[in-house]
Amino acid sequence: MDGPALSCYTAALIILFLPLRASEDRLLAGERLSPGTTIVSDNGAFALGFFNPSNSTPASLYLGVWYNGIPELTVVWVANREAPVINGNSSVPTLSLTNTSNLVLSDGSSGLVVWTSDVAAAPSSVAAVAVLENTGNLVVRSPNGTTLWQSFEHVTDTFLPEMKIRIRYATRGTGIRLVSWKGPSDPSPGRFSYGGDPDTLLQIFLWDGELPLVRSGPWTGYLVKGEHQYQQANGSGSIIIYLAIVDNDEEIYMTYTVSAGAPLTRYVVTYFGDYELQSWNSNSSTWSILFKLPPYECNRYGSCGPFGYCDETVRPVPMCKCLDGFEPTSANEWRFGRYSAGCRRKEALHGCGDGFLALTEMRVPDKFTFAGGNKSKMEECAAECSNNCSCVAYAFTNLSSGRSGGDVTKCLVWAGELIDTGKLGQGIGSTTLYLRLAGLDVAAGKSRKSTATMIILAIFGTGVVAFLCIFVAWLKFKGKKKWRKHKKATFDGMNTSYELGEGNPPHAHEFPFVSFEEISLATNNFSETCKIGQGGFGKVYKGLLGGQEVAIKRLSSDSQQGTKEFRNEVILIAKLQHRNLVRLLGCCGEGDEKLLIYEYLPNKSLDATLFDDSRRLMLDWTTRFNIIKGVARGLLYLHQDSRLTIIHRDLKAGNVLLDVEMKPKIADFGMARIFGDNQQNANTQRVVGTYGYMAPEYAMEGVFSTKSDVYSFGVLVLEVVTGIKRSSNSQIMGFPSLIVYSWNMWKEGKTEELVDSYTTDTCSLDEILICIHVALLCVQDNPDDRPLMSSVVFILENGSTTLPPPTCPAYFTRRSAEMEQMRDDIQNSRTSFTLTEIDGR
Ligand code: ATP
Repeated sequence: MDGPALSCYTAALIILFLPLRASEDRLLAGERLSPGTTIVSDNGAFALGFFNPSNSTPASLYLGVWYNGIPELTVVWVANREAPVINGNSSVPTLSLTNTSNLVLSDGSSGLVVWTSDVAAAPSSVAAVAVLENTGNLVVRSPNGTTLWQSFEHVTDTFLPEMKIRIRYATRGTGIRLVSWKGPSDPSPGRFSYGGDPDTLLQIFLWDGELPLVRSGPWTGYLVKGEHQYQQANGSGSIIIYLAIVDNDEEIYMTYTVSAGAPLTRYVVTYFGDYELQSWNSNSSTWSILFKLPPYECNRYGSCGPFGYCDETVRPVPMCKCLDGFEPTSANEWRFGRYSAGCRRKEALHGCGDGFLALTEMRVPDKFTFAGGNKSKMEECAAECSNNCSCVAYAFTNLSSGRSGGDVTKCLVWAGELIDTGKLGQGIGSTTLYLRLAGLDVAAGKSRKSTATMIILAIFGTGVVAFLCIFVAWLKFKGKKKWRKHKKATFDGMNTSYELGEGNPPHAHEFPFVSFEEISLATNNFSETCKIGQGGFGKVYKGLLGGQEVAIKRLSSDSQQGTKEFRNEVILIAKLQHRNLVRLLGCCGEGDEKLLIYEYLPNKSLDATLFDDSRRLMLDWTTRFNIIKGVARGLLYLHQDSRLTIIHRDLKAGNVLLDVEMKPKIADFGMARIFGDNQQNANTQRVVGTYGYMAPEYAMEGVFSTKSDVYSFGVLVLEVVTGIKRSSNSQIMGFPSLIVYSWNMWKEGKTEELVDSYTTDTCSLDEILICIHVALLCVQDNPDDRPLMSSVVFILENGSTTLPPPTCPAYFTRRSAEMEQMRDDIQNSRTSFTLTEIDGR
């Protein structure tokens, strides 16, 4: 199913019926299967029966196959996807095998046939039998063993071992596609599908309707009958998936098996548009996602624009780049991570005289033409392209066997834009792409080609099957659907209005209180596969509510508040609306359970980007300066501009999330109201914060005020400018912390040297000097000397030549062994200390 029970968005379904035919694996002609009875495969792995995904009353039933031996109902095939049958006292639906060898599902009340296997040419009066095989395949077989019908030919959303995802040559275009469920409890065909490309027969797509979402590269040299294997780690060992692309005269198909002893394994197209490989983890009784490739925007179809490519060799986060000889069409857009406009040639082509540059290890672009004519030599393929002045690229593969419309070689040529290109590095699907570029002479190209031919032959000599390198769907739903009707008004009111007071904050009666059951359903019962983070306040899950992606924070039981107080508090916090605050969309408070529902931000937290070698490239100076200003505005709003004065108390890079445009949003604001006391300037026995960001008066004496947030802001600014963590186990340039280091550089007049080398190309010295100056003012020892956020925002936005010099920063000089131990403790747990408790993280 669309992963019922398998993925984070799916519901745990409940089987209403007890298996009554536990040992029978078949249905004979004339027999009936009705709700409450199941047919179980001989090995006990699969069951066929009726299930009620929505738990509705009266029961709306579907006939399906599911895994029999695991506690979580996981449906792998559904017969009547679009037409549930009602099970009531007077109407009992049944499945029967007719004497024309057809499986027929009849509605109990009307007697109407709701679904049939529809074997047109089934001979009458043969004593056929329907068997649920050990693979999960439901097969109708004639007495002589001929297969008359099988469920594996009518797949739903699940690709099981030994199934075939195929395209037949004779009926080109009518292949088998996996089609997602519509929703967690709605098995009817959803938006997303997965299968072979009917146009080229050479690649596989994941589609959203007719739009491609992810594409495998065209397979190169795969036409080797037999199996290719690769290994997937599953945490506690490894599972080997033997993937095979088989091509014969009738059809081309993909199939797979798994290594002996492996846990239950399946591929599934989920209803939110992912294609996942999942395996059952019997220790945790959950489905683990072995891979969901690729989890990056970059790998989505065409995301790097025309003549751009996704460099998948960049780790951990692949990046969009321009092909050699090309530059971003809009450098500005590109800098902000908006790549869809793609790249343009640095130098226009002169015509047919231009040569070709060999780009190795590529996933070749889409929209190719398969140049037939059995071109057995690389040179012939090259000539095909170079003789055609509108041809911009070609790729060639010498297939070791098989066919492709009769050809044993594959010569692909491109005209026009090159779209959805990738760089894979060595490995599956990697091919050399020859790109026509101005200024290259043809002769040079030729010599490169012959080298490249050798590379290709070497690659294929190793028997690489080039298929299925990548398909993923990390789909961003755009909130197309709204929450349930009664929540609509609230969401409309909670748009990104700039300031509270200017927008329409939610009223208590329209604030979305979501039931625990609904959240549980949206997170697949808080399964680990949905977990996206763990913070000091509890675990964070990704879920889909009303078609909108959300982040759900399940608060730990530390909050002493009662449900009513919690709800009231959340309503107040939800009124805080600012474009630099993460939007709180709803909550759930039932018994001990307290959950907060936030807008989902896809670009991770600032620290996950700033301190990651490949991701930090996304943070040029302009982006960093905008982040600093955005955080400052958000904090000012919390302190001053909202009607509530909120002291964050745990401002840090980990609590700044980045939206798709890399704009910052402060998270976790208002948590102190839920978890701790909320006076504005107080002495508290319970310190919530993170080591290194906490103002000394707060960390040591528990005194907090807006000025302790200002201190944290100063530390954060220093991190953003320098790209250095506030403190680390080793010293920073010989200094015990970033603050001390920065202060010393300032004193010695070497402020410029603090700048992160990643930004030196793009930075503005004036802006950097102001940022560092402001940061050092913020981390001064005396809270009264620190500026208000209103001044900070003003200075950052308008610049200033008359800032006072900063005084010596506050810093924990008492870094005794005890302090070190405390730091380790507070980083590892939220265990409370007696006396002055530090719940730092
Ligand atoms: P702490 O609570 O100790 O300050 P933290 O800020 O990392 O630590 P959380 O705020 O609970 O903890 O978040 C944990 C992780 O969950 C974040 O790092 C982030 O990756 C993810 N996360 C939290 N909220 C969202 C959100 N709204 N959208 C996307 N991811 C989120």
